[in-house]
Amino acid sequence: MLGLMQEWPLLCHKIVDYAAAQHGAREVVSRSVEGPIVRTTYAALRGRALQVAQRLERDGYGLGDRIATLAWNTARHLEAWYGTMGIGAVYHTLNPRLFPEQLAWIMNHAEDRCLFVDLTFLPLVEKIAPQVPSLRQVIVLTDAQSMPETSLANAVAYETWLGEADGDFAWRQFEENTAAGMCYTSGTTGDPKGVVYSHRSNVLHAMIAALPDAMGVSSRDVILPVVPMFHANAWGLAQSAPMVGAKLVMPGGKMDGPSIYELLDSEKVTFTAAVPTVWLMLLQHLEETGKTLPHLKKVVIGGSACPRAMAEKFERVYGVEVIHAWGMTEMSPLGSLGTMKPEYAGLEGEALLDIKQKQGYPPFGVEMKVTDDENRAQPWDGKTFGRLKVRGPAVSRAYYGGAGAEQFDDEGWFDTGDVAHIDAHGYMQITDRAKDVIKSGGEWISTIDLENLAVGHPDVAEAAVIGVAHPKWDERPLLIVVPKPGARPSREVLLSFMQGKVAKWWLPDDVVLVDEIPHTATGKIQKMALREQFREHRLPDAEVEPRAARGA
Ligand code: AMP
Repeated sequence: MLGLMQEWPLLCHKIVDYAAAQHGAREVVSRSVEGPIVRTTYAALRGRALQVAQRLERDGYGLGDRIATLAWNTARHLEAWYGTMGIGAVYHTLNPRLFPEQLAWIMNHAEDRCLFVDLTFLPLVEKIAPQVPSLRQVIVLTDAQSMPETSLANAVAYETWLGEADGDFAWRQFEENTAAGMCYTSGTTGDPKGVVYSHRSNVLHAMIAALPDAMGVSSRDVILPVVPMFHANAWGLAQSAPMVGAKLVMPGGKMDGPSIYELLDSEKVTFTAAVPTVWLMLLQHLEETGKTLPHLKKVVIGGSACPRAMAEKFERVYGVEVIHAWGMTEMSPLGSLGTMKPEYAGLEGEALLDIKQKQGYPPFGVEMKVTDDENRAQPWDGKTFGRLKVRGPAVSRAYYGGAGAEQFDDEGWFDTGDVAHIDAHGYMQITDRAKDVIKSGGEWISTIDLENLAVGHPDVAEAAVIGVAHPKWDERPLLIVVPKPGARPSREVLLSFMQGKVAKWWLPDDVVLVDEIPHTATGKIQKMALREQFREHRLPDAEVEPRAARGA
């Protein structure tokens, strides 16, 4: 027996239709790439998305065509996205922080036919376009007046191109499992891998992300997604914000402390999200100027582990609730969020910060387990760590072209490549990337725990821990530190600071100070590069015999 409810395919353009119908006058504010702050509404944005759809179709694009974007978060980028999806074409967000050769590789792999690009990245595109034979058109997200000279034969100013369509157009209809978008993972090893979102997965993810115990956003919120649309759909906010009718504030290309503060303040932002690096810059700006955050209620911090000191500052000094989140491009991207179940809701002070160090628990729509190397599920005891595996309706079931098949098993579980433990209340904590974990005498040492501990020292700006070869223990931890300006903390000072806070045999064998730690295009520490750099590093004799000290 079948249910007798309507077929109403979950298609992304229905999100912008809803926003225009129910929240049509709600503002979408952007810091434009040309400079000024520009304002539009959901109703106007939908109208222009229809023009994009109509104009793309006239240029010969349709179902399944990959339409790339190389752009900051702005209303123009958003309307180009919805317009692309509305004809069943596939938006493909490119990360401008990648090397030009990587970008060309990704565009060729995806066979991008058309590209929307911000003025900022035009020189980059001039360099790579000749290497991408499938690319037949470049649409520069600006008007005729600001359109620069370009060596690209097939480039046009967006506003001119868009002006040739009147928007009298109906969204195309197709099946909800149709591809909606693509995003390649940054992959620190091997070639990048293509994640392909569907209309259904995007709509479901947007609903899941908006739930009260996930991001918990509403039409009364003013949302500033600092996290870029090219970083896994701005963590879903590009869809959740219009779905709930929240005012949207798009930061364009300026993510420094003063620029973000200006938008938080002038637009009275209540909700924002970004990686820790962005929040470091904002907190530094607040400290230097003595400014406060009277409007901001929630900040989502993810992409890499949220330092304890950061959660503490936001919550205690500025009164802003921190939601520590974990996710992956392959998960659309939300996997877990650190909102408080009743079991933890009464916690205060250090006990609360302890829980905020965890990456939280999965919302409806994400199943999660940790397994050992034999694929046996591990207990939820908050300490036994293993490989973190997930499944759900907005989790990848394959990569584009079939790469990385070994990460997917027959029961639908996706091996995240992260190492984690889960506690009795379901809260997960990442302890490492599987390839970064240090194996010392057959036991695992979490590099993230050690890094979090080291950055708690007042002289440390940033820290990374890697395993270096050791004749007896296979690998031992080396702590690499970028000191705060003017500070030169010694090995002894740092090690004694860490002593007693982790098992003795976890303590790094050595400490080196560096000016800079290399990062990937998405802001993660490049452990591979560090391991290469310190491959020959000779550890001094260990002060403690790791195996003897274990269990002490
Ligand atoms: P990406 O697909 O580029 O978003 O990278 C996903 C990876 O980032 C995850 O597999 C984790 O290794 C890491 N990651 C994301 N969020 C966190 C977090 N809150 N804490 C620690 N690692 C994180």
